[in-house]
Amino acid sequence: MEMISFEQAFDIVMSTGFRTGPETISYTDSLNRILAGDIASDMDLPPFNKSSVDGFACRKSDLGNDLEILETIPAGNWPSKSVGTNQCSRIMTGAPVPDGADCVIMVEETEMLPAGLLRFRSSFKKENIAKKGEDVRKGDLVLRAGKIIRPQDIAVMASVGQISVTVSKMPCVAVISSGSELVEPDKIPGLSQIRNSNSSQLMAQIERAGASGKYYGIAADDEAQTLSIVEKAISENDMVLLTGGVSMGDFDFVPSVLERAGVKILFTRIAVQPGKPTTFGLHSKSVIFGLPGNPVSSFIQFEMLVRPLLSKMMGCEWRPLNIFMPMNDKFVRRFADRMALIPVKITDDASVLPVEYHGSAHISALPEADGIISMPVGKKIFEKGEVVSVRPI
Ligand code: AMP
Ligand code: MG
Repeated sequence: MEMISFEQAFDIVMSTGFRTGPETISYTDSLNRILAGDIASDMDLPPFNKSSVDGFACRKSDLGNDLEILETIPAGNWPSKSVGTNQCSRIMTGAPVPDGADCVIMVEETEMLPAGLLRFRSSFKKENIAKKGEDVRKGDLVLRAGKIIRPQDIAVMASVGQISVTVSKMPCVAVISSGSELVEPDKIPGLSQIRNSNSSQLMAQIERAGASGKYYGIAADDEAQTLSIVEKAISENDMVLLTGGVSMGDFDFVPSVLERAGVKILFTRIAVQPGKPTTFGLHSKSVIFGLPGNPVSSFIQFEMLVRPLLSKMMGCEWRPLNIFMPMNDKFVRRFADRMALIPVKITDDASVLPVEYHGSAHISALPEADGIISMPVGKKIFEKGEVVSVRPI
């Protein structure tokens, strides 16, 4: 199968139509989920004319005069008197402004006179009243479907009484590591073995992407064994992620196993560095990625291809944050036949520094990185000071 550009691969991945359905959960459990229905306000906000300071509610036209104090209005209480000429009521922040008053003067700007009267000792600046409905009107849309729910969205749900919310179901994602050299992290590897770091990395990436991961263990480099794990994973999940076994080695069975499992393979090579052997296919029940075995490649291809698709499956528009920053130094590469994805650090002076990185197996390079930059096909040099786009990771 021919090698395609990263942009083509991205378009193929994103054009798969699969979409998870909705479910209703408590708003307090909705952090990081994708909102699946619009939310409107059930009331005006603020619900009444509200004092935004501690002070005295009175009439602007009386500010030069000595004012009689009628009552004290704590937050959570309704005023019992309306304010007339040369009158005022002591009022606390958040309390309803009494009828008749058109401003609240701050305590700090007043003076108490011996006879229990009050005098304004400043010049008028503003009314200090948050008007009923000035933030939100009853029925206004306050949160739109398709957004990732953050703490500030949960506050909005709380204020409009939306205590149960409709979110997209989390895609179920299977993780399988393939390779006869792998042992689980709690084991001491034998002479020719290494610890499996991809599975736990992918499970964490899946969780961060707002999906639900399920680990299926290590498949040895054996076609029959890999096929049976893959078939089970496909039947139980919306997406299957395999790592390893996609290169050109004698025991790289993953593409042929996928075909035997009934997967229609759409690509097996992307002109990207790292991550060239990334494989993608469709099954009637789920979508399948064969990610490279190298942990850095697997990490980066998840961020660049898998994560956008997971977002789309949940009805969320993929809008990654891109930060534009200058290169801290000149960066040169020898070959430009593939798009390079380069892990970078953001320095304290807001410039971009590629992390020291010896290739796609250099796993300890990634914790240093704050983001990924991409260098297009055909480009070999980023000059010092050249502005690049950083995708935070
Ligand atoms: P492969 O794609 O199977 O040829 O693997 C490429 C490289 O990645 C080899 O050096 C593997 O040992 C390594 N590798 C494969 N799978 C994993 C894994 N799950 N965790 C850590 N390294 C891996
Ligand atoms: Mg292998």
